[in-house]
Order: sequence, then C-alpha cells, then structure tokens
Amino acid sequence: MLNTSIRYLKGIGPKRSESFRCKGVSTIEDLLYYFPRRYEDRTNFSSIADLQEGQIYTIKAQVLAGGQRNSWRRRAFSITEAELGDATGKIPCVWFNQPYLKNYLKVGSAVILYGKVERYNAKLQMNNPEYEFLDGQDEGSLNVGRIVPVYTLPQGFSQRSMRHLIKNTLDEFLPKINDPLPFDLRRRNGLINLAESLLNIHFPADLDLQKQAHQRLSFEEFFIFQLPLVLRKLSRKEKNGFSHIVKDKLIQDFISSLAFKLTGAQEKVLHEIKADMASPQAMHRLLQGDVGSGKTIVATLAALIAIQSGHQAALMAPTEILARQHYEKISAQLAGLNFSGRKLCVGLLAGQDKEKDKIYHDLKEGKLDLIIGTHALLQEELIFKSLSFIVIDEQHKFGVGQRALLPKKGNNPDVLIMTATPIPRTLAITLYGNLDISVINELPAGRIPIKTMHFEQRNIQQAYALAKDELGRGRQAYIIYPVIEESCALDIAGAKKMFVELKNGEFKNFKLGLIHGQLKTEEQGQVMSKFKNQKLDLLISTTILEVGIDIANATCMIIESAERFGLSQLHQLRGRIGRGEFASVCLLISDCPSPESVARIKAMVDSNDGFRISEEDLKIRGPGEFFGQRQHGLAELKIANPLTQMQLLKVAREEAINLLKQDTRLEERAHQLLKEKLLQRFPEYEKLMLVG
Ligand code: ADP
Ligand code: MG
Repeated sequence: MLNTSIRYLKGIGPKRSESFRCKGVSTIEDLLYYFPRRYEDRTNFSSIADLQEGQIYTIKAQVLAGGQRNSWRRRAFSITEAELGDATGKIPCVWFNQPYLKNYLKVGSAVILYGKVERYNAKLQMNNPEYEFLDGQDEGSLNVGRIVPVYTLPQGFSQRSMRHLIKNTLDEFLPKINDPLPFDLRRRNGLINLAESLLNIHFPADLDLQKQAHQRLSFEEFFIFQLPLVLRKLSRKEKNGFSHIVKDKLIQDFISSLAFKLTGAQEKVLHEIKADMASPQAMHRLLQGDVGSGKTIVATLAALIAIQSGHQAALMAPTEILARQHYEKISAQLAGLNFSGRKLCVGLLAGQDKEKDKIYHDLKEGKLDLIIGTHALLQEELIFKSLSFIVIDEQHKFGVGQRALLPKKGNNPDVLIMTATPIPRTLAITLYGNLDISVINELPAGRIPIKTMHFEQRNIQQAYALAKDELGRGRQAYIIYPVIEESCALDIAGAKKMFVELKNGEFKNFKLGLIHGQLKTEEQGQVMSKFKNQKLDLLISTTILEVGIDIANATCMIIESAERFGLSQLHQLRGRIGRGEFASVCLLISDCPSPESVARIKAMVDSNDGFRISEEDLKIRGPGEFFGQRQHGLAELKIANPLTQMQLLKVAREEAINLLKQDTRLEERAHQLLKEKLLQRFPEYEKLMLVG
C-alpha cells in the first residue's frame, strides 16, 4: 500500500516522479517521510513598522511597485526590485538573478516574504527574501493563517504545489497507516502515534505538536537504526569462540620488561579486554584513544593472551609504513620473551614480500605466533592454524567489508578494533552499536602538550626559523604538503618541488628526506628507517604519514596549505609529534579566509584533545560528511540528529535491546510491522533474522 510508487498519485507524471526520484522519493511512504526543511508561523505576521536590522521576519505585504534592471557591470547579472507595503509601512526588496520574478510582481498582488532585514544606504531592505505569492483564494488554506511547512523543492514544484500534494497524500493515506512501534513502548516513552506525527510534522497544529512529532519520528529513526546493530550483538553472544587463558607469566613478563608503567587508562582497558577474552563469547570491542595514548601496547598484550593460550594473533594496519613500524617495534619488544621454552615468532606481510610463501606456510603450520600486515592479510590463500585474536588498527581507514573479512579466518576469534578518531560515547554507540567500547582517556605521564600556531604564507620564514631551532637542538621535523606535485589548477606547493627547493635553500645545512605515495614501498621503508635512525633531520611528506607513525625525537611539524585538510586529519597529522619527553610545536600555514577553515585552524590552536577536536569537526561538517561514505547509515538519518538528541538515542537503543531480548527474531504479532520496516530498510538482515 504505502510502498506503491508515487506515479499513481494524482498530479504526478513521469517528469515529476523523476524529479522526486532525484530527491530519494519513489514510494508514497517516502513522500510521507519527505519532511519540511523549516516552518513559517503565518498565524501572526510581523508589521513592517516593527522590522529591525539583522533579524529574520515573515511579513505579508502588497506589491506597490516593481521593476528590473541589469547590472551595468555584467549584462548577465540582473536585479529585480520591488517596493512592498502593509498597513504599517513600506520596505524595498531586491532579488539578484531572478529575472522571471518581474512577471509576478504585479502592483497590487499579495505576497509573503521570509528573510533577513538589512540596512542599505541608511534604509532597511530585504535582500533575496524567499517569496510566495497569494492568489486570493488562500485565506484559511494550507498556505496562510497557520504554521506552514517549507520544503526543499524537487524540480518543477512550488511550495504551494508541494503542500497540496503532501496534504492530499496525508488525507488519503493516514487513515490506513499502522504504527510499527508497539503500543506499550510508545506509552512508556510518551511518544505520539505515527499518523499523528506525520500529520504534525507536515502541518503542525501548533509548535508543541510539531515538537512531539519531531521527537517521535526521530525516535523511530534511531530505533530502527539500532535494531540490526543490537541484533548482531546479541546473536554474536550466542556463538562460541575462544576461552583464553588470561593469567599467565607471559604477559606479566612483558609488562615488567617495558621501560614505562602502564597508565591507569591502559590498565582499565586491559582489564576489560581480559574479561572478554576469558569468556567463550567472541569479543567485539572498539578501543578509542587519542593519538599517542598508547593503544599499540594494549593490542600487543592482548595478542600475548592469545599466544599464551596456544593460538595465533593478527594485527592489520592501513598502510605498509605503519605495518612495518608495528612489526619492527613489536618484534623488538617481544624478542626477550620466552614461552614454553621457545622464542616467540612474529611475521610481516605487507605487499609484495619475497618471503610470502614461507609466511603462508608458517602460519598454516602454526609456527608463527603473530602476523602483522596490511590488507594483504585478507588474501584467500592465507590460512591460520588457529587464529583466536585480531586487531584492526586505525579502523576508520578500512571499509566495512574489509574489516569483516579478517575474522572469517578464524573460528569466532576475539576482535579488537582501534581508532584514534574518538567520538562522544553516545555517538559511538549509534555508529558502532554492535561493539563494546573501551576508552583510553589519558596520555602517558610526562607528555608536554603540543603548542600549535598559525602563520600566514608570507610569514613562513618564522615557521622555518622555529623548525631550525628544533633541528639545532638535535630534534627532527616534518613538513607536510597536501599534494605530491603542484598542478596548474591548484595554486599550492607540492612536496616534490619543495623538497628540492628547501634542500638547496632554506635547509641546506640539514639532511632532508622525501616520502610520498608514488615511491616504491621499499624506498618508503628506507626513507622511514633513515629518519628513525636520525640519519635525516627533516622529512618532507604528504599525508602518507597521517596515521600511526611513532618517532619520539620528532618535535616539529609544519603543515602547508593547512586549509586543505579536514580537522580530524590535521589532528592525526599533529599526533606524529609530541610523542616523547620533549616539547613539540605544530605550525599551520594557511591564508584561506573561508569561515570553515578559520574555524578548523582555531580549533587546532585551541585544543590538543582528540575528543574535543572530533566534536568540533562534527559540528563544522555534520555527521554525514564527518563519517563519509564508509559509515553509511548515519547519512540516512533524515530527521534525527545524534549530536543534539543524544538522550533520545540512548533510550532508543535501550528499547531496542529490550525488544530483541524478548523477541529476537521479531516473531510476535505486535512486531510484524516493525520487522517489515526493518527488512525494507536493511534487507541484508534477513539472513541474520532467520538464522539468529
Ligand atoms: P597510539 O595510541 O597513537 O597508537 P602508540 O601506541 O603508538 O600510540 O604509543 C605512543 C608512544 O607512547 C609509543 O612510543 C609507546 O611506546 C609509548 N607509550 C605507550 N604507553 C606508554 C606509557 N604507559 N608510558 C609511556 N609511554 C608509553
Ligand atoms: Mg597507533
């Protein structure tokens, strides 16, 4: 019924249904869920005499005079002017580049305007207000005398034709609509029913009902979004994985061999992981921790738990450089350990390794205890003897599909997913609702906060001078460029050219290296190990260094064209310094005046805290952009906003858990509609529903 195509509605031909399709609307249900972008309270209009500069108003007025002129600068540029008046006064209005408007601006016609009042030549005026002409029959209709919805218009529609279409559709279909949310769930949470919500989200009787409708529809979105996540989590608990031995000498030996003490937060997280690994249910845990908080040690300890239980562990990293770094560091750390009278064996698989066949063989025979690698680990020929634990480092760099593949190589292995883009807990639950979450919210003792400064391009010498100070003290530095080579289209410096320029100029007394994605991986490895062994002072790079790289002697980073990076990315890049006992400086070079980039740079200068940074980033970009394509789902939320409705989201999740605990496969009669809706939205869960 509701999933009938809108083509069968009166007034919708092929053209209009196509322009709706572009807006993601193809069925009647989609249309009912096509919510207004905003509302106008047309029960009371503002009087022109009361208008004040800088405020937004809705007024109802008559056209007193209208006309059009072309700008003398560019002929293509038109200005339409009109004088509008009501019983209390007059106000001029101006529209740019809307030449067709003059045909409607007939003296005497009535119009509703919505926009900001500005001052121009000492007089008040409205620029480019939104307008809606009334046709005389409107009084008491959909368009005046009430709170009216304003839609994002599909092509070929006016606000008035949209309102008519929606109203007719509501009138026809609301009586037939059934509520997918069970009655007692609604009652418990004070939610109004679906038909009433849909009516009041489009044509609210008053603002309070609009709020209630909004609340109810947001809840529904969160709830349906949570169901599959919760279901996945519950069904995993039913399956048996490994019961690891968590108390043993091996991890104790390792902890005492470390040059430092674990932080309280690392201890706490380790404790949570141990509990998971000891239990036969498969672990599925997200470890959030800011850059430099020491996630790798925790992962290594968990790998040792797998090894001391007689199984194998795997660590997957997003880049070869990072995989290699982990390999070098971890194999050195484990070199001194003995287990059942033998040394531990660690292998690396990152691209075209010559020893690939031997590694495959050793993994299959169980001779390797821990394998570290890139997505090369996902290859089909790769078989483990007994894989019981997996770490995925910097998970946001992998697609959902890639992340799901590695666990298939074991028999319900424990999985630890690590991310240095921490987000508020409630939001993490929306996104990763099928995971348990651990947080390292503390940096190792003795870290000195990084000082971040902003320079304009013309003052770059000051930034270079600060970098030279650091190099002079025996420290090392990075300069990051957004591109490898400049192109004609972009007026920004590229890493390759700047390497030559700086090497022969500004930094000619220092040893410079260059690294970027076009180099062969062996070359990349050579450059990194030279830098690590302090045979290079300054490393010119692209964002290939964004994640994971850990070199404590590097204390200075210059980021060129900083406006070209996202906020979280800037924070990740900055995380490459400040990782040791020395004070570090991060120097952002940017001229770009756009308000967004100013906000990003300000956030960087003001804060070192990854949680605050990502919250800020979320605010600037919105959840859809922030999480990008990879984490679908959030982008599909039409009305609910996880940032502003965290409490509601929490309740929706709890209710989803309640419901699925009681009726895991949604078999009860009262849950049939819900099941239908769920499968409609997430067809891939059909299997999960059936097999549990
Ligand atoms: P990230 O969380 O960004 O992956 P790493 O695991 O690379 O951070 O750790 C950053 C650095 O801090 C590493 O050199 C690591 O050896 C060191 N480190 C980890 N834990 C501690 C600790 N408790 N005390 C001191 N240094 C630590
Ligand atoms: Mg790391």
